[in-house]
Amino acid sequence: MPTVIVATGNPGKLKEMQVYLTPLGWDLQLKPKDIDVDETGTTFMENARLKAREVAIATQQWSIADDSGLQIDALDGAPGLYSARYGKDDQGRIDRVLRELKDSPNRSAQFVCALALARPDGTIALETEGICPGEILTGAQGSGGFGYDPIFYVPSQGKSFAEMSRQQKETHSHRGIAFAQIMAQLEQLELG
Ligand code: IMP
Repeated sequence: MPTVIVATGNPGKLKEMQVYLTPLGWDLQLKPKDIDVDETGTTFMENARLKAREVAIATQQWSIADDSGLQIDALDGAPGLYSARYGKDDQGRIDRVLRELKDSPNRSAQFVCALALARPDGTIALETEGICPGEILTGAQGSGGFGYDPIFYVPSQGKSFAEMSRQQKETHSHRGIAFAQIMAQLEQLELG
């Protein structure tokens, strides 16, 4: 069973990756705590590449990384790369987005998930970006999920992320879309 290091220190993210990557039979492991990667990229993809590359080189193993966030058109793409730091907690981040958007008629937004897989020498073997288009609601709707889920509405499903079942969100989210795009290529890879 090939070992692949998930370029995160977050066990929740490892679990989530495990769900998507189950069919591959990889042994996924968290990155060692002493490896810290500065997310200095200017795009989600640059940050995903950076994390995968640096963890691969440091561990001399294959490494997979993701980077994601919410882009709101009327806020010129904010919170974007700062999605995780836009407020002190999930509620604070939601409140800030709603405050900044006010009653703007343009509620268009998208969740983006960049994925990158690096070989042990740090070269990028595969990458992809999943995009889930949606709209920012004027108030929270639904109680599932995390982060901005209660205010992110997906017109194709007629629900906010927070109203979807776990399985529905896995299929329709930016992350689900990114993994679906790359799965066939991952299955073809020979991880030596
Ligand atoms: P990360 O790069 O996956 O750690 O995500 C960065 C931030 O984007 C998170 O802390 C959340 O605020 C936000 N985010 C990413 N994916 C989702 C999602 O599926 N639902 C809600 N918020 C998300």
